[in-house]
Amino acid sequence: MVAAMAALVVWLLWRAGKSPALGDAWLAYQEADAPLGMPGSGEVDERWCFPSAWQRAQIPQAARFDLPLGSEHGGFTYNAQAFWEMNPAHGGRHLGDDLNGIGGMNTDLGDPVFATADGMVVYAGEPATGWGNVVILAHRTPDGPLLQSMYAHLDRIDVAQGTLIGRGMQLGTVGTAHGAYPAHLHFEMRASDEVVLSGGYALQPLKRLDPSATVQALHHAAADACSPSALARMLAPRR
Ligand SMILES: [Zn+2]
Repeated sequence: MVAAMAALVVWLLWRAGKSPALGDAWLAYQEADAPLGMPGSGEVDERWCFPSAWQRAQIPQAARFDLPLGSEHGGFTYNAQAFWEMNPAHGGRHLGDDLNGIGGMNTDLGDPVFATADGMVVYAGEPATGWGNVVILAHRTPDGPLLQSMYAHLDRIDVAQGTLIGRGMQLGTVGTAHGAYPAHLHFEMRASDEVVLSGGYALQPLKRLDPSATVQALHHAAADACSPSALARMLAPRR
């Protein structure tokens, strides 16, 4: 009798562990919690994975912002297509700056692209062939609001999603989006904390900020303070 009871308990425990009801409840929770645009089935699209509250708390405060190509001040670069310029071929206004090395055409292919400020990598991947490789960083400004910087058409990505990166650290290299354009960096600044990978042109600003003006306003650098951030120093590999 005792043996039968024990066998029943073991079977019940085993059955509970395999319960399809438990699995269904988990799936239902996932679907109920899914933001708009998440595919109903199949693999989760990382573009729709928002940072958790825990990750948001880890987004580092960025005391200073620099331009991501050339020198900290954007030296040796030019802006081929400025923010908010109308581009009739794309039916909208440009939502970022197109930064190039001063040599023009593909002379900047493979040049390092630097993090504009201390931040967390909230996206690293290729959302569409027209974008090529894309990195998006989240930053906390000294006043508190979250900002994002976005780096597109990268030839190579050097950072992993979810990691912290210090200002001035290399996050990738300048690319052509599979030869779609002469090599350049499409650089956006966003007053947003959601990871959005829609097009680079629109008739509404869609929370995009003028990248050059924003970086200049948040530069906060003394003339003699061209040094790595505290986070960059902390993350640098020790020898
Ligand atoms: Zn662009």
